Amino acid sequence: MKRVEMKERAPLERAKDFNPVTLGYTKEEAVKEASRCIQCKNPLCVEGCPVGIRIPEFIKKLSEDDFAGAVRVLKDTNDLPAICGRVCPQETQCEARCIIGKKGQPVAIGDLERFVGDWAIGAGMSAGESVSKQKRPKGRKAAIIGSGPAGLTCAGNLAKAGLDVTVFESLHLFGGVLRYGIPEFRLPGRIIESELRYLKSLGINFVSNVLVGRTLTIDEIMKEYGLIFIGTGAGLPNFLGVPGENFNHIYSANEFLVRLNMMHAFDFPQYDTPIYIGKKVVVVGGGNTAMDAARSALRLGAEEVTLVYRRSENEMLARRVEIAHAREEGVKFMLLTQPVEFLGNEKGFVRAMECVKMELCRPDDAGRCSVKPVAGSNFIIPVDMVIVAVGLLPNPVVPSLTPELKTDGHGYLVVDSDLMTAVPGIFAGGDIVGGDTVIEAMGMAKKASEAMLRYAADK
Ligand SMILES: Cc1cc2nc3c(=O)[nH]c(=O)nc-3n(C[C@H](O)[C@H](O)[C@H](O)COP(=O)(O)OP(=O)(O)OC[C@H]3O[C@@H](n4cnc5c(N)ncnc54)[C@H](O)[C@@H]3O)c2cc1C
Ligand code: SF4
Repeated sequence: MKRVEMKERAPLERAKDFNPVTLGYTKEEAVKEASRCIQCKNPLCVEGCPVGIRIPEFIKKLSEDDFAGAVRVLKDTNDLPAICGRVCPQETQCEARCIIGKKGQPVAIGDLERFVGDWAIGAGMSAGESVSKQKRPKGRKAAIIGSGPAGLTCAGNLAKAGLDVTVFESLHLFGGVLRYGIPEFRLPGRIIESELRYLKSLGINFVSNVLVGRTLTIDEIMKEYGLIFIGTGAGLPNFLGVPGENFNHIYSANEFLVRLNMMHAFDFPQYDTPIYIGKKVVVVGGGNTAMDAARSALRLGAEEVTLVYRRSENEMLARRVEIAHAREEGVKFMLLTQPVEFLGNEKGFVRAMECVKMELCRPDDAGRCSVKPVAGSNFIIPVDMVIVAVGLLPNPVVPSLTPELKTDGHGYLVVDSDLMTAVPGIFAGGDIVGGDTVIEAMGMAKKASEAMLRYAADK
């Protein structure tokens, strides 16, 4: 039986607004797709999931029309299914291992997960209905720093184990990159809100506008809570380090996406956050952030959006589906190209970009090709806006203000195999430790929360 493909809006229609690109399964479609799973005795799909979702079990419930049962199985290991179902790279994880995929298309595990997550939201299922009751060790507290997928997962696991959990977030809204990075057309804010409501129903206390390190120190929090998880992510933009990068109308992808997602720049003048959108926009980079920035710029009215990437499409780190969506919507790709200088006008605004062509060299040990410039291949293209999306570095605030938490040469927190930092009782996970995806962050947080419970029990 062929995989049930999820319906999408037509590219030229969706490229004009921020409404969702993919439309989700109907009940009938979900049940039909679920029936493709052959319920393997040794389900390799589960091995491919960093949080160990019992995939065949939730799919079986779904195929039997037991949606509430499917929610219970999913929520046992994952508090954010409606989010993961939308943004996780299933194609390289659970679905890559699915046995059905050996001869045909793998079961659409991610789309089914999204269906179940959305169904739970629609049915208003709260924690009481979906989480098995646990014995509550009285009086144990834990503080979570950062409300991205790592922090939320750790908070959920500790709350389910009965701890009194408080999440501290420096921004005014919760969700980390889910909220300020990934745009509405891929992950609607109402989905994040619903998953947060669910977490609140577990009894978690959320506190915004607290920049830990400054508003409160780690020491102060440790004195009150005795157990900490740091999930402060990688929010520090990398730059190209080429001349002219400070001209006006050159943004980091972070600044651009934060303005859009958290400060409603796309609603100007209803919201007081202006954002300039050029006619000829270039986005530099090849990851999910670059795709999100390029597709957002297109939606905000740029006449032409070109993605400039120094390797070939094979090496792009973005999800294949996002690359395909960007192309369909009209983003142009200029591959094997590296910016070497930005040129400005007399008023200090970017007007052009000098690039050099690149060529791929032999793959390294990890199978990734490096690149080198082609001598004499420089050329100039006119641009009036640039978004630089060439990676993010670990958030430096907590580590720099708390030197006892050791960092490696790149600023990532150093942790042991239990994800405990150099300070006993303080654990960390997600991008601040070196993760790369939502589900990796969640996987680390799950592991850390288990170690935190063992640590707390020993005290
Ligand atoms: C634009 C973009 C698109 C992406 N798309 C995908 C995708 O499609 N699929 C995927 O799997 N991954 C994607 N990623 C990567 C993924 O979002 C991250 O790997 C993941 O969010 C990391 O989670 P985290 O909890 O470690 O950190 P974050 O999500 O970064 O959350 C950290 C939180 O900590 C807060 N914080 C930082 N410092 C402090 C402090 N001192 N005090 C209090 N709070 C603090 C921050 O404000 C933030 O809310 C994308 C990333 C970006 C930038
Ligand atoms: S590997 Fe594929 S077919 Fe087997 S249990 Fe997992 S999802 Fe079902």
